[in-house]
Amino acid sequence: MSARLEELRTNLAAVHDRIARAAESAGRDPADVDLVVVTKFFPASDVRLLSDLGVSDVGENRHQEAEAKAAECADLPLRWHFIGGLQSNKAAAVARYADVVESVDRASLVGRLDRGAAETAREVEVLVQVSLDPPGRDNRAGVVPEDLAALAAQVDTSPHLALRGLMAVAPLGEDPVEAFRRLAAIRAEFLEQHPSATRLSAGMSGDLEAAVSAGATHVRIGSAVLGSRPGVQ
Ligand SMILES: *Cc1c(COP(=O)(O)O)cnc(C)c1O
Repeated sequence: MSARLEELRTNLAAVHDRIARAAESAGRDPADVDLVVVTKFFPASDVRLLSDLGVSDVGENRHQEAEAKAAECADLPLRWHFIGGLQSNKAAAVARYADVVESVDRASLVGRLDRGAAETAREVEVLVQVSLDPPGRDNRAGVVPEDLAALAAQVDTSPHLALRGLMAVAPLGEDPVEAFRRLAAIRAEFLEQHPSATRLSAGMSGDLEAAVSAGATHVRIGSAVLGSRPGVQ
């Protein structure tokens, strides 16, 4: 029995427990909150153990690492979520292995993702990433709320992309409860236009409770399952 397997099993159980308690205190069904385990910086051998432990969804944020790991684990019944900043010139390549692209934040990615998906003759699921940063902050990831409707419409009309919902990251240095409250309001308006795009990917190891109480249907958990990431982040 591998020590790493036992460590991952224990950590996964603790995370499932946190999700269940957060859902219950928000009056939600714990079964309505899915776990995406973020495996960035960890080896394909860990992905394999997670799959053995029943994990169905894994997330990666760097194209080269994700592409290699998805290839190494092609025999496993996993859904691959791309959750990182996307360079336009990599978008088509990401769409060839990712099942879900959660970080679509600008129009220039959409045609390229659609082309990559078309090349593999399947539909790629898309979440539009919304910025919760205060206006004017540099290096923001995510579309500003004012531009969300146009971007979502563009995804929605792409033949090989399926608009499933929204993704967001709580800004550093702000109470995530406040940030996710803004997100819930943005989502309510978005759902008026796209009532079937009900997915909301929000919440990480440090703030999953706040995300679940704001309606997250998917939490993206790295370090609470795998431990602290080796090397620089
Ligand atoms: C790394 C990462 C996560 C997971 O973060 P942890 O704090 O390790 O749980 C979630 N979402 C995104 C977008 C990430 O890049």
